[in-house]
Amino acid sequence: MTAIRLDNVSRRYSQGHQALHSISLEVRSGELFVLLGPSGSGKTTLLRLIAGLDSPCHGRIGLGGQWVETWSASRRRIAMVFQESTLYPHRTVKELLLPPSGGNPSDSVTMVTRWFGIDWIKRWSSARREVVGELARSLLDTLGLQPLLNRKPHQLSGGERQRVALGRAIVRNPAAFLFDEPFSSLDVSTRWALRSDLLNIQKKLGSTMLFVTHDQSEAFALADRVGVLVDGVLRQVGTPDEVYSQPSHVEVARATGDPPMNVWPATAVPTETGWRVQSSWWNGDLKMAESSQVRSTQQTIKVWLGVRPEVLGVEPTTESGAHRQPLVGGNLGVVKESRFLGNRWGVEISPMPDASASSQKASEPSVLVTRASGIERRRLEPGQFEPGRVVRLNCDTKDMHMFDGESGRRIRKAGRS
Ligand code: ADP
Ligand code: MG
Repeated sequence: MTAIRLDNVSRRYSQGHQALHSISLEVRSGELFVLLGPSGSGKTTLLRLIAGLDSPCHGRIGLGGQWVETWSASRRRIAMVFQESTLYPHRTVKELLLPPSGGNPSDSVTMVTRWFGIDWIKRWSSARREVVGELARSLLDTLGLQPLLNRKPHQLSGGERQRVALGRAIVRNPAAFLFDEPFSSLDVSTRWALRSDLLNIQKKLGSTMLFVTHDQSEAFALADRVGVLVDGVLRQVGTPDEVYSQPSHVEVARATGDPPMNVWPATAVPTETGWRVQSSWWNGDLKMAESSQVRSTQQTIKVWLGVRPEVLGVEPTTESGAHRQPLVGGNLGVVKESRFLGNRWGVEISPMPDASASSQKASEPSVLVTRASGIERRRLEPGQFEPGRVVRLNCDTKDMHMFDGESGRRIRKAGRS
């Protein structure tokens, strides 16, 4: 299988828009790598460069140890599956599943062996051919294509069309697969089914796959490793757990989580053991185990504080909403809106209104909190989250993330108290 390598790849469009900034990345041989990024972050641009449909302005693209940026798309032997697959309308699924060189579609032996490229299968022993044939049949089954073989594209649902597109990619026996949000226009259950099919196929074939999506749960569900792309910059590469629990940049923090991490501006002064932090939502000391280059200064710096919505504590208080209690922690808030999300509640909390500085307060960000429903639901009666209710927020400092206000880079690892 073929590793994909990008070395300082940039792409600027003629209108001057820089879609990709010096991307360096390796998708290892046999790996399912997912690139997660919001719409417009450069995902499709990146895939087109790898497939050879477009050329980088700078940088090199490697496939299986060779630099290929001057190679044609066909020479690269890469299969790409798009969000909306264009399938020839007059062909049946069976015909669509044959490689472009043709062959007799009714010849099931041809069909089966062609899953993996007939030329080199011919040289195999019959026992080995049997094994591959079995694998191919099970792929047809995995994709649920067997009953659809005689249908044409207009007789297929969106999910079935994507299955056919996936099958077409597989029969080409490509060096690597690229997926451009192939499931994002499908309903939730079809999406789940197709993801697990894709994982099955990837395991069976051991293929190198680069999958891009804006959907975080899809990225985490599929990926061996995830890369987070924001505004054409690759901000972090890691396992789903690393990316979620230790975002290396404030943009990664903002791009992950559902709802995403709460991030608000703060100031921090270095202390003997870490940082003294001041913000509208939280004041206190954050310990740092390791020394930090920023701590060499004694100056106050601007930072971003971040806390995931699911780890913020929220307690009802009996305070009146009209009266602001000057807490040291500053962690009183007013429920702005609460929504039942099925398995949990999403509660948006605004800072307490402050009569003496209302215009300043108005610009401060609200905070999102999520709470599991179900067992905890009795404890968290919806009434507790009625709009206007005053609540007290609290947070374990080990769950707090801190990022440099200028560079956005992580200053402090979460998980320390
Ligand atoms: P994504 O796939 O992550 O949604 P794209 O790679 O399609 O993002 O686009 C990245 C950025 O490049 C966007 O701002 C988009 O408007 C711009 N872009 C994409 N294609 C072109 C083009 N052919 N000409 C000019 N700008 C483009
Ligand atoms: Mg795209």
